Amino acid sequence: MNILMVSAEMAPFAKVGGMADVAAALSRSLAGRGHDVRVVLPLYGALDREKEKIRPLKKLPPLSLRVGQKMHNIRFHVRGSTSSAVKIYLVECSELFDQRGIYTYNDGTGFEDSLQRSNLHSQAALLLPQLLQWPVDVVHAHDASAVPSILYRQNWYTGKQLPGPGGTLLTIHNLAHQEIFPADNAQTLGLPRSLASYPGLLEFHGQLNLLKAGILAADQVNTVSPNYALETTQNPEYGCGLQGILESRGQDYCGILNGGDYETWDPANDKALAATYNKDSMAGKTKCSQALLKELKIAPASGKPVCGFVGRLVGQKGVDLLLPIMGRLAVDGFAFAILGTGEQRLEKAMAQVSKEHPERISFVDQFDENLAHRIYAGSDLFLMPSLFEPCGLSQMYALRYGTPPVVRSTGGLTDTVQDAQPDSAEGTGFVFDDSRPESLLAVLRRAEAMFCQPEQWYQLQMRGMKKDFSWDPAVSKYEELYRVAISRQK
Ligand code: ADP
Repeated sequence: MNILMVSAEMAPFAKVGGMADVAAALSRSLAGRGHDVRVVLPLYGALDREKEKIRPLKKLPPLSLRVGQKMHNIRFHVRGSTSSAVKIYLVECSELFDQRGIYTYNDGTGFEDSLQRSNLHSQAALLLPQLLQWPVDVVHAHDASAVPSILYRQNWYTGKQLPGPGGTLLTIHNLAHQEIFPADNAQTLGLPRSLASYPGLLEFHGQLNLLKAGILAADQVNTVSPNYALETTQNPEYGCGLQGILESRGQDYCGILNGGDYETWDPANDKALAATYNKDSMAGKTKCSQALLKELKIAPASGKPVCGFVGRLVGQKGVDLLLPIMGRLAVDGFAFAILGTGEQRLEKAMAQVSKEHPERISFVDQFDENLAHRIYAGSDLFLMPSLFEPCGLSQMYALRYGTPPVVRSTGGLTDTVQDAQPDSAEGTGFVFDDSRPESLLAVLRRAEAMFCQPEQWYQLQMRGMKKDFSWDPAVSKYEELYRVAISRQK
């Protein structure tokens, strides 16, 4: 199949979170099965074109696209070699994409023109197959920012203009990120006004909601774990106001568990680590631990675990459950290696607690891919007390690195981590239910008790390292969704 991916992120060069890893690994796995996969992203100003081998696609001339009332000059670029299995195209548009990050300005403030950006990205993505005379079987849009590609496919471009059937699939990586705008922004999208007022696709309590429109318009919709698919249709807390809309899609909405990208995340072959290791030879993990403690200038008390956290520092990730108990645990001898950026209030609170316990708590307020690898490898426990979690990849990496995850039972965490009860020969991590700091504290005490039993701990690590969340089963399921989506357009 010819698959056009429309995504704002792709690892490793344009990454904020798990969606980037998915866009990269899913595309690579599909290409490995013989599909022609082409990904279109904005050319972010922050990208180092030389380092990333990004160059203009000379055979296509510069173009001008209308967004709302304004015309914008664009130019297509490509990344990597032309023989790469997955072809990556980047849309240059200096007014909309230069001098900023993926979702925010460099100082963290949001864009005032994100709708314009989404519009231009999607228009350019749909234009590319026409320009290249490449018949598209499926347009696969990732998250709300790519939804205009689905809307344009249904309402603007006809089958004649888009070569190929162009069935549409929307993958929801996080239902909380819906992209909602005041109703008078309809013009910016260049879509018929009727779509923006009730009962139009985009209308949402008097505003415009891109994700809602995508859920209704796409031929197929999926999210990234079976449990999150259930939660979002059955529990208003998880449905984020779209529960009924999702339910209305019936069988057309499902959950497909993400795979782990074990090419990038493999402790036996990881260049970021002080030493490599695998389940048959764990000595390297001890070296990684020692190196991490030295690098971060922290140390646990004897017999106490080092707890790692790598993630966006936002409410979703359960940081509010962690903060109130960190000081107490640090006094008890636990050490913490925390890597993350996000909400200012959480960054400040984390900086404060690490300042109070500098010998036990290290907080690195950055995005650092290599340090992330060293934390997965060098920690004893990996913390992921998320309030909700569509899939979560970090816990999969932690399992592979022999670092049992501590997770709240929600979304994809429930699908991927089994609780290890004392003296049980089962389980891969530590699971708790309530979203209260005391519950996290209790489960950490349980983890600490098992950490003091080396044989039990070793068996726990082995069970986790043997878990294989490879992409293969997911890719077969995506292929099936693509087939259904194509059949809807024929
Ligand atoms: P989400 O997509 O909600 O952010 P996931 O667990 O699916 O959560 O994926 C998070 C990905 O982003 C992981 O690969 C994780 O290692 C990475 N990551 C998050 N924050 C950072 C950071 N500050 N530095 C390096 N990697 C990070």
